[in-house]
Amino acid sequence: MGLVRLGANILRWCNSCNLPILEEKTCPICYDETVETPLTPPGDCRPAFVFDIEMIRKQADEQFGPGCGELLLPGDNIVILNKAPALDRMYEIISDGAVLGALMFDPPFGDKLIIRPEAARRMLPRMKGKVIADEGSLASIASGSNLMGPGVIYADEGIKNGDEVVVITDSGTIVATGLAKKSADEMNSRSRGVAVKIRWKNDQPLGGTSVPKKRNDWEAVIRANHEYLEKMVKKAIEFIRDLRRRYDKPIAVSFSGGKDSLATLSLALEAGISPTILFADTGLELKETVSEVRRVAREHNLKLLVEDAGDAFWENVEFFGPPGKDFRWCCKICKLGPTTRLISKNFPNGVISLIGQRGYESEQRMRKGSIWHNPWVPGQIGASPIQNWNALLVWLYIFSRKLKYNPWYERGLDRIGCFMCPSSDIAELKIVKDGHPDYMRWERYISTYRKTMGFPKEYETLALWRWKRLPPAMRNKLSELNVDIETTTVPSSAKGPIELRFAKGYRPCTDGGLSVEGVFSRRLDIVRVANLLNILGPVELHKDENIAKTGDIIIFGEGAVTIKGKNDGSIDDLAKKIEQIVSRAMFCVACGVCVGRCKHGALKVENRIEIDPDMCTHCGECLGPCPVIRFDRDIGI
Ligand code: SF4
Ligand code: SF4
Repeated sequence: MGLVRLGANILRWCNSCNLPILEEKTCPICYDETVETPLTPPGDCRPAFVFDIEMIRKQADEQFGPGCGELLLPGDNIVILNKAPALDRMYEIISDGAVLGALMFDPPFGDKLIIRPEAARRMLPRMKGKVIADEGSLASIASGSNLMGPGVIYADEGIKNGDEVVVITDSGTIVATGLAKKSADEMNSRSRGVAVKIRWKNDQPLGGTSVPKKRNDWEAVIRANHEYLEKMVKKAIEFIRDLRRRYDKPIAVSFSGGKDSLATLSLALEAGISPTILFADTGLELKETVSEVRRVAREHNLKLLVEDAGDAFWENVEFFGPPGKDFRWCCKICKLGPTTRLISKNFPNGVISLIGQRGYESEQRMRKGSIWHNPWVPGQIGASPIQNWNALLVWLYIFSRKLKYNPWYERGLDRIGCFMCPSSDIAELKIVKDGHPDYMRWERYISTYRKTMGFPKEYETLALWRWKRLPPAMRNKLSELNVDIETTTVPSSAKGPIELRFAKGYRPCTDGGLSVEGVFSRRLDIVRVANLLNILGPVELHKDENIAKTGDIIIFGEGAVTIKGKNDGSIDDLAKKIEQIVSRAMFCVACGVCVGRCKHGALKVENRIEIDPDMCTHCGECLGPCPVIRFDRDIGI
């Protein structure tokens, strides 16, 4: 997840009432000033459900000793989770107006609680993992230094290098929290070097547990935020009514079974509209999601139109390979395909499709705005009445209207989609795996694929299939684990004819825009392909990752291709050129026919054609007849 900033963070807190307040600088109940809760952007926070709270308590008990979980999050109280950007799932934990720390999933090891001083203050009476620092080291910690070995008076037995610990004075005042860089034995011998890498300094130097604040429930949060919530509801209703006035088209709701589309549907009903419900079943839905869609349509007596992708995913996965965050052929085939069929069959004269899209979900979605045209479905106008809502506001709306929602939200998911969506974190995939029978089929497929490709076992355990090109954070993780990254790329050893197959279209699962994902039927010699790719523009060759890139085109050595473009025509044109370039790179018979077409002397033929990148102007003139290209062949675009 990238950093998304939608202006000021809207989560504030009334410390007098101990309630989260959306946006308002004055508490609507007691009129005291509210304070901003410092969240990591994008700040798309949500309520913690019982499942989440139990998960945090269990982790606190495991890491810091029995009973710590209940001290950290006592009884029933308001707890909010803010999903922060990280390699895998990371939630900042907010309660009583303070960020207590973060629960992060650290693959392949599992959950880990990173505590801030307020969390340590709550757990201190039962907490293991205390390091007592001498008075002489406090000033340097206060000025931003780590705790060094000679500054340790005593460290609790059992502390290991890599544990989360609290640094205190010998009178029990909390100094900071951080990461142990030595074992207890090493610290107690006062050996030189960093003993604790300080993460958070204590800016409220109190000892012991914090004073309990007034407890509240979500009913109280709804009451406190009533005015703001209803203001946003009114705006959304006006937005929907305005759409009806501006466009002479029927209104439907694209319902996914998730919270955002549930809120969108409910807003449409409040606007006095009885929309048709559109459901594009990808064939990879959680079964509870399909039940939700049917239940909602039945309970509101709304017309439900369903188009099912059936087995399209499984029929195509053998050819395309696993989908990735950067290779979403699945969205085109399993979602765009059924959506397009659904709309063109049922709304030949167009439709306004209300979609629960929110700007907080990604920068691209933020840029997309509240109304857009789907270039692949003429006549369809997409519109989101909740474009500027954050997840907490959506939940307050759902709670306030007492709407029933997808049960997976209470099992730890905060996003409902396909059961093995490549956008998922490993932590989310683990939750789905335990509750979805089809997950085993996916695991079997990935296991066979990994073995066929000769990838290391981490391809499965770290779900590396979610990327074609590993992000830097995952590459760092692999290097920490001593996994040879080279082995995650593919040698150009395959033989056989070459065929290119595409899934193209709008990107319905992510940020919109046009793209093509394609796969050649064999692995590519990426160095050769990179050389001839100069025909289209200056090339970056990443040999270690087996990737060649020019402009918005990325070609992977294992045969995958992604192209982004402004319109259908430009993408088709690029796709055709890429097939020709790759065919030449792989099969050139050194006939020399193309050499004369280059006016810049950039081509030479020895055993096969080669471009001198310093002389090539990327003009494309050499892309004429060539014996290895059949120009009359339909390349499947
Ligand atoms: S025209 Fe001849 S030399 Fe040029 S790429 Fe094709 S086969 Fe190779
Ligand atoms: S004709 Fe020559 S300069 Fe133009 S793209 Fe081909 S190799 Fe490069």
